[in-house]
Amino acid sequence: MSTDTQATAQTQTQGGLSGREQQVVDQVEKRLLVGGRWVDAEGGATFEVDDPATGQVIASVADATPADGRRALDAAVAAQADFARTTPRERADLLLRAHELLMERQDDLALLMTLEMGKPLAEAKGEIAYAAEFFRHFSGEALRIDGGYQTAPAGGARFLVTKQPVGPCLLITPWNFPMAMGTRKIGPALAAGCTSVVKPAHQTPLSMLALGQVLQDAGVPDGVVNIVTCRDAGGVMEPLIRSGDARKLSFTGSTKVGKVLLEQCADKVLRTSMELGGNAPFIVFDDADLDEAVAGAMQAKMRNMGEACTAANRIYVHDNVIQQFGEKLSAALAQLEVGRGTDDGVQVGPLVDEAGRRKVIDLLADATGRGATVLTGGEAPDGPGWFFPPTVLTGVPGEARMAHEEIFGPVAPLTPFSSEDEVIAAANDTPYGLVAYVFTNDLRRGLRVAEALESGMVGLNQGVVSNPAAPFGGIKESGLGREGGSVGIEEFLEIKYVGIAM
Ligand code: NAP
Repeated sequence: MSTDTQATAQTQTQGGLSGREQQVVDQVEKRLLVGGRWVDAEGGATFEVDDPATGQVIASVADATPADGRRALDAAVAAQADFARTTPRERADLLLRAHELLMERQDDLALLMTLEMGKPLAEAKGEIAYAAEFFRHFSGEALRIDGGYQTAPAGGARFLVTKQPVGPCLLITPWNFPMAMGTRKIGPALAAGCTSVVKPAHQTPLSMLALGQVLQDAGVPDGVVNIVTCRDAGGVMEPLIRSGDARKLSFTGSTKVGKVLLEQCADKVLRTSMELGGNAPFIVFDDADLDEAVAGAMQAKMRNMGEACTAANRIYVHDNVIQQFGEKLSAALAQLEVGRGTDDGVQVGPLVDEAGRRKVIDLLADATGRGATVLTGGEAPDGPGWFFPPTVLTGVPGEARMAHEEIFGPVAPLTPFSSEDEVIAAANDTPYGLVAYVFTNDLRRGLRVAEALESGMVGLNQGVVSNPAAPFGGIKESGLGREGGSVGIEEFLEIKYVGIAM
């Protein structure tokens, strides 16, 4: 055993973590953030957080009860009036400080995210920067909340239009982008003057708890952001939604859960923002630059191991180039290094849990059972961790389950097409409408197809559309509302009109 290996072995801890990994996990609060204080869950209950690369437990965090959830909402309600009175400049400065702290702690936060979620460290670092950028972006938006003053058409009166914070918000986030999906909601909520109760996914509570520490250190007043981690998401959140004491729900997650929450919100007519599932078509015309299209497909498919709402789920390639495209994509994907996200050179981490990998395996078996051919990958490895290799399938028929359901894994299904009309019809043949990708060197065609696609976003000759300064969101069953851009703050503002007699 070399000295290095001995040193590593000595610093290995119970959950299979190295000394530095353990230190980063130890640093994080594992309790609930309620009214500015870190508190245990009622009865001291906790639940475990796993490393998806090893399946081992790395931490236990507080498991909130409905009463804990209620206390968190009470704290948000109590803090609302004072926070609404803060000046735009004060809120902008808070967000800027939080941005700076996130970037200062980028390395530790990235490692923490990799440990609980699995993505490679470089991607986790990228996500921290992306997440921080939402704070910087919305610090600017806080200063630009606008209004209006207008003469009534018949004269004799004036219309004064002003915007006010919606009020206390419930923010529910998924595990796939544990930090960015939080800041994409907390950023505009803070900018608008709203307090909140945040509930992260059970797989990735540590990143959100670490974000809570960042917000406290940035000086966010007590009770303005409260964090509740729990295993019984429905049991804790439904009473809060139905209470009517929160005035808005912003949710990112699956369409299935989003529909349940919309029904609950109807009870007290809560404002809602819904960032739901996707089934993105990725279209490659025969006039596209094939290398550019392959690079775009790598990004659109492999970012986050394919566990993204924006992931290319159906790849339509023109008959004339599908063979060449398939060969190039397979060669590129086969070279990617799969492993624990903390290891040097790893480009593809494990899937988040056993259920996630099981779904990928089932969808693959369904597609091959219907005649699809595996060009590369296809077999889950033995051993610990929820790994799955980058996989390319060709000849995936329209009736395959993966043409209709989110794969949420590193599987690229190729389907041939021969005409523009045919591929637009196939692309739109889904209840989802989050994002679509088009690769062509014909600008007119690109714009024509982008306009015809039923989706909230289109990547034209690019495989990534996410940007804090752009309006992110979907149509159809992919959601309601937009996050980011100049419109993101409007989701957290109410319009008030004052009619003035003159
Ligand atoms: P999920 O199962 O819908 O869970 C999302 C969040 O909702 C988690 O915090 C979860 O908590 C919570 N939740 C589950 N059931 C609930 C209930 N009955 N009441 C209240 N909260 C509940 O989705 P996921 O598996 O975490 O995330 C993947 C999904 O998110 C995919 O469909 C993906 O496309 C979508 N997504 C969309 C966007 C977008 O911007 N459109 C971005 C990222 C992800 P627990 O973890 O405790 O169950």
